[in-house]
Amino acid sequence: MDEFESMILKMQRTGDIDKARWLESIDKKISPMFKQKIIANDKSVLRELILPSWLTWDILRTWAMRDAETSRCTFCQEEKDEGMLYRGHFVCKGCAEEFVKKM
Ligand SMILES: [Zn+2]
Repeated sequence: MDEFESMILKMQRTGDIDKARWLESIDKKISPMFKQKIIANDKSVLRELILPSWLTWDILRTWAMRDAETSRCTFCQEEKDEGMLYRGHFVCKGCAEEFVKKM
């Protein structure tokens, strides 16, 4: 059981059945495109999607990261938490800043 599953279990135990149910079908509610953005820590997702108010960014990240292979940067090949997507590739924050400087 991963962190996300134990979170659902905890909600079921504390009586938050609706929340647990919502999270159980989250894969159908949020498309892979948005999932990629969540993995890249792109919070514009919060404005683009209609999400329940109790759903925090942390919960979304926990869900998205569970089967994210890795957020390995296309340029430096390192795994980073923060970054952005450029044409479908993850670029870490540091490399993105370098890139902008060179432009
Ligand atoms: Zn990088």
